[in-house]
Amino acid sequence: MNVHEYQGKEILAQFGVGIQRGVVATTPDEAVAAAKQLTQETGTDWHVIKAQVHAGGRGKGGGVKLAKSLDEVAQISDDIIGMQLVTPQTTAEGKKVHQVLVAEDVYYPGDSEPKEFYISVLLNRATGRNMIMYSTEGGMDIETVAEQTPELIFTEEIDPTVGLIPFQARKVAFNLGLSGTAFKGMTKFVTALYKAYVGADAALFEINPVLKTSDDKIIAVDAKVTLDENALFRHPDFEAMRDIREENPTDVAAREVGLNYVALDGNVGCMVNGAGLAMATMDLIKQAGGDPANFLDVGGTADAARVEAAFRIILQDTKVKAILINIFGGIVRCDRVAQGIVDAYKNMGDAINVPIIVRLQGTNADIAKELIDASGLEVQSAILFQEAADKVQAVLQ
Ligand code: GDP
Ligand code: MN
Repeated sequence: MNVHEYQGKEILAQFGVGIQRGVVATTPDEAVAAAKQLTQETGTDWHVIKAQVHAGGRGKGGGVKLAKSLDEVAQISDDIIGMQLVTPQTTAEGKKVHQVLVAEDVYYPGDSEPKEFYISVLLNRATGRNMIMYSTEGGMDIETVAEQTPELIFTEEIDPTVGLIPFQARKVAFNLGLSGTAFKGMTKFVTALYKAYVGADAALFEINPVLKTSDDKIIAVDAKVTLDENALFRHPDFEAMRDIREENPTDVAAREVGLNYVALDGNVGCMVNGAGLAMATMDLIKQAGGDPANFLDVGGTADAARVEAAFRIILQDTKVKAILINIFGGIVRCDRVAQGIVDAYKNMGDAINVPIIVRLQGTNADIAKELIDASGLEVQSAILFQEAADKVQAVLQ
């Protein structure tokens, strides 16, 4: 799950990571109040107004602006709140901005040497270990740095049995070219950041830029934070940070009914029980010359309500030209699933406008096939996996 920059910074601050301070606002009036409050706390009259959307590159799209007075805070917030922000990471249509973060200006006026770094924490899937990835080239698009000057990107892998050891935090600060107070500040920053990553059950932290101010403070100016969905039950306060306005409506609908759904690019919708069988089904569709439109695990209870919910979610995708339902009846009996399919189909009427191929195997598979064949609905049934794939291929021709 992704969270907004202001929420990501809240999480970092909880673990003692230095951040650029800010207050979120949904109207220009709230933004002005936030700026006044920040001025009292920090002493700076300048503020940066930052669009809060789940996408990076906001600066390039005009979603991050400096305000040198309260009038400018009001004006800029008014411009940004409600705009469709287009950045290199959004679609051409952009994302609607519902709120801004009013933050203290940390690039002090007259500061000749603010230094921006890049630091991320993520899982290295090749080694199965967390790593800190960092670079002197902060503030820039890291993909560009990786392409043009890969020697400027460093990594530090963490042994899970001992965690981040102090030597590693010092190595990061050293490789970033720091000394004195800034060196100490960076080791503290990196240590707290890694503690936060583990403590929050995060899947990704990307802090770009991490800033060294001219008075040698090390702070997170930006924060892209992705939390591990599967660990959210341990963090009810993080679960509350979910902003469904930023999420794909189909994903939200699937999560609400408890379906495990991942959208893909193909044309054959899949409804399967069990993740392993779902993967195998996707392979089979590929082999038959089709392309899976999704991964969907309906779980153990494929009753009419769940099957109908799954149908509706699959059919929201207009690329879908056929649906393959592949159910293995172990504890759940095939005839019950078949009845669920027939009931859901009848209930949905014209909403189902693509051919449906059903393969039911396992307990009572033959009764299930009879049930489907006798239903009079336009559903083709199969018992063998290959038979189902051939039928899919035939309807796609
Ligand atoms: P992104 O464009 O979505 O990655 O948003 P960032 O939070 O990284 O902000 C973009 C850029 O705005 C940063 O790289 C900075 O150069 C600039 N910026 C951020 N905070 C401040 C600030 O307090 N003062 C000034 N002058 N610039 C800032
Ligand atoms: Mn950034």
